[in-house]
Amino acid sequence: MPTNHNSINEKRLTALFCQLVSIDSESFHEKEMAEAVTAALKELGITAVMDDSAAETGSNAGNLFAKIPGTGSQKDKEPLLFMAHMDTVAPGKGKKAIIHEDGTITSDGTTVLGADDLTAVSSILEALTSIQENGLPHRPLELLFTTAEEAYTKGATAFDFSKSQAKEAFAFDCSDKMGSYSQTEPTLLSFTIEVHGRAAHAGFEPEKGINALLAAARAAAQLPLGRADDHTTLNIGRVEAGTATNIVPERAVLSGEIRSLVHEDALALYQRVVDIFKKEAEKIGASVQEKKIVHLTAYRIEKNDPALLRYQKVLHDLGVSGSSRVNFGGSDINVVRRLGKDGICIANPMYGAHTTHETTNVKELALMAEIVRGLMLS
Ligand SMILES: [Zn+2]
Repeated sequence: MPTNHNSINEKRLTALFCQLVSIDSESFHEKEMAEAVTAALKELGITAVMDDSAAETGSNAGNLFAKIPGTGSQKDKEPLLFMAHMDTVAPGKGKKAIIHEDGTITSDGTTVLGADDLTAVSSILEALTSIQENGLPHRPLELLFTTAEEAYTKGATAFDFSKSQAKEAFAFDCSDKMGSYSQTEPTLLSFTIEVHGRAAHAGFEPEKGINALLAAARAAAQLPLGRADDHTTLNIGRVEAGTATNIVPERAVLSGEIRSLVHEDALALYQRVVDIFKKEAEKIGASVQEKKIVHLTAYRIEKNDPALLRYQKVLHDLGVSGSSRVNFGGSDINVVRRLGKDGICIANPMYGAHTTHETTNVKELALMAEIVRGLMLS
């Protein structure tokens, strides 16, 4: 990896990452992080504008968007969009980055580290700083720092993408070895099924009751829970039923999710789930109400995808070997692609993400910034 002065400043980048980690920014509470990112951009002479998505997302901040004009020989090229999310999962209050002797960075073990996605936020800022201090000509750039990505990409979903002129977008939010990218992301839908029966005293007149929990349990037992097929999963993650031990439960509410790499298969499986519940409810005279929300829509990156080709060229120039992976989670790129724009989700150095033993490391953090810089200068 190049370490000359015309490149990424590893020390500065690491310090910035640690500073961002020290800011609380759990989903829907990104205000302070947004202020820190805005201040860092301002130092570079870049004005970030906060959108009004907070009203829609329920977050205490909006998404941050900035446009940077191109310079020199590159100024009339097509703009590119760079994305990272500002929120972290819980437990994320009072985070502290600890740099170990071998360059590994961890939290103190009581919170997540926030490498997801602060390695991306800090890398984008360092890449811009490096480009600016070396006076390198670059194409027009757009930056989007989103809120509530961890809550099914809520911030990006609420962003008005007509503000962006870029045809290609790059998000850095994929937990895998450096050089890889998400070749696919699944459709992800969550659902709630409510079975309604009739309450009755469990001792005096149980025959007058209609046990909603019984119908729900019989239905749940028939579902292909877990891996429904080789590209689809189904989970019931929450069950609520009844009110007291001596009352036949009138109501049972089950909620869960379906993920599938094939959009139609997710919808078909959901219909099957609903049909099974309706059949079992009918058998005992209960009824069913159901509701689903489609959060993500499956996509697949083809070999000749322009954003992928650009990424592969940058990796080649840096001497990094690339690979693709199936990502069974979503990212903000899902939103971009649903709108018909091109974009890929690139691996950033975050290991054990969403746990208190999440780590990153100084070397790969610097490589991440090199990759971002390479894309910006492409
Ligand atoms: Zn993430």
